[in-house]
Amino acid sequence: MRVWEDVIAPLLRALHLGSTRNKVLVFAVLATLIPALATTCVSYRQNRRSLSDQTDQELRSASSEAARGTDLWLTERLDDLRVAASSYLVSENLAKLTGRDGARALARLRDYLNSIRERFPDHEALVVIDPGGRVVASNSGRTGGVRLPPDGLTSLRTGDALIGEAYWDGVLGKAAMVLAVPIRQADGRFIGAFTAKINLHAVADMLQRLAPDDPRDVYLMTDQGRLVIRSRLSSADLMRTRLPDTTTRVLFDGEGQTVVYKRADGREVVGVLRRVPRLRWAAVAELPRAEAFRRGGQLRSLTALMIAAQFAGVGLMAYVLVLLVLRPLARLSSAAATVAAGDLTVDLPAGGAGEVGYLTQVFNRLVARLRERESQAELERLSVTDALTGLYNRRHLMDTLSSEAQRSRRLRRPFSILLADVDHFKPYNDTHGHLAGDAALAKIAEILRQTTRAVDCVARYGGEEFLVVLLETTTATAALVAERIRARVAAEPFDGRRITVSIGVAECPAHGDTPETLIATADAALYEAKDEGRDRVVAAGGKQEKEKRRRKGEA
Ligand code: GH3
Ligand code: MG
Ligand code: MG
Repeated sequence: MRVWEDVIAPLLRALHLGSTRNKVLVFAVLATLIPALATTCVSYRQNRRSLSDQTDQELRSASSEAARGTDLWLTERLDDLRVAASSYLVSENLAKLTGRDGARALARLRDYLNSIRERFPDHEALVVIDPGGRVVASNSGRTGGVRLPPDGLTSLRTGDALIGEAYWDGVLGKAAMVLAVPIRQADGRFIGAFTAKINLHAVADMLQRLAPDDPRDVYLMTDQGRLVIRSRLSSADLMRTRLPDTTTRVLFDGEGQTVVYKRADGREVVGVLRRVPRLRWAAVAELPRAEAFRRGGQLRSLTALMIAAQFAGVGLMAYVLVLLVLRPLARLSSAAATVAAGDLTVDLPAGGAGEVGYLTQVFNRLVARLRERESQAELERLSVTDALTGLYNRRHLMDTLSSEAQRSRRLRRPFSILLADVDHFKPYNDTHGHLAGDAALAKIAEILRQTTRAVDCVARYGGEEFLVVLLETTTATAALVAERIRARVAAEPFDGRRITVSIGVAECPAHGDTPETLIATADAALYEAKDEGRDRVVAAGGKQEKEKRRRKGEA
């Protein structure tokens, strides 16, 4: 209890959480949002991980495909070349070149080379080289020259193929490489090299397919870090570009892994390298690091958006809850305040089902009961009061008088009555009208109330006659009260005019111990007051007693 009062309650007040509405709002939002946030955070982390897994996967598969595709392309080109070189047309005509029919053999060889070149569009030039290294036949048209590596022929004598370096062919304006296969006679003797210069268009197309759109890039490079061809570009400049040694090492060392490094243009990228099996080349797929982060950033924005949406949704639901639950409560409390202020006319609309609805019904019943009780009390009040003056009526007066008379007799305790009559009221009525007369009576009644105690019974005895029962009061004191009343009425202006009253005073049981005898005595005293000139007080037992004694003396 103390913890609540000392710690929690001030804290709630400081946070403006005193009202139930704010409490419900805050707690509903927290109760829903905390689990939602936790779930969102977990799923954010998972998504982030799977997103980076996805990026890795993309880069890995692109680099593998590029390496495989390049290898396949090379295998096919070498196979084509071998098939072309193994034709008898080649070995036969090559052998005849130096003979009699040399010119015809050369022509046939050239025709054959031309026909091969037409079949394979990526063969830029086809050349037959003799074992001495001389070009003995080539296809017609622009060839741009075919260079064999210095020890190329030597390796071909024993090997089955020669794969040259890729280079930029300035004459053709294309990236190209030289492939050569040996030409052998039926007995296996090496008689020359069938050499082709091949452009790398098909490789470039394949790379382009693997990286169709920015910002992913796929390229081939040598194990020395020299760039060969790129998905979006092949140029002399590109082929002169070399990656820094550290980068090349990092990439080759982490083959098949995602590594982060700086590209030749200084841009930070993430990339995966895959060697091309039969070449001293490797395929690299890379993505700017910023792009990889951007994907994470998009996820972050999406997550933030989701959280904001959850917040708004939950807030809205809590608000609706507050409206549904607290509106009727607020209506109830304001109705209760109205009732407390004395207005019993409130009647709340039935609040539907549930606790608040039940409370509303109970409240309505309560107010109805209060109304009933009040109207009963009003009826009771009306039954004992006089409508014009609000004083007790004659019936109530007589009841009070008879019980007080009994009590006085039993306990031998005195009480007094004052009987007041307005002087010359008939002429007042006649002159100023009955309504003015009524107003004057009401005003006199008010003076009577003000000049007596709450315990005294002030009643309208007749038309313009009033009777006051003064409890526990003797004639002497009662006469003082009567005099005070007389003086107040005489001093009070009634629409600018003067009204006076005459008052007769009698005491119980001294001047009568029943209501009737007591009133008769007071009436006699009143009569005497009228007789003596009005606007005065006459107490019983004064002149009347003296008169009685005088009469006794005469007799
Ligand atoms: P006095 O008592 O001084 O002898 O003269 P009075 O003119 O007052 O004579 P009385 O007491 O007999 O008069 C009663 C008059 O009081 C008659 C009536 O005009 C007036 N009266 C009685 N009851 C009412 C009332 O309820 N309203 C009004 N306006 N006048 C009333
Ligand atoms: Mg009278
Ligand atoms: Mg009178």
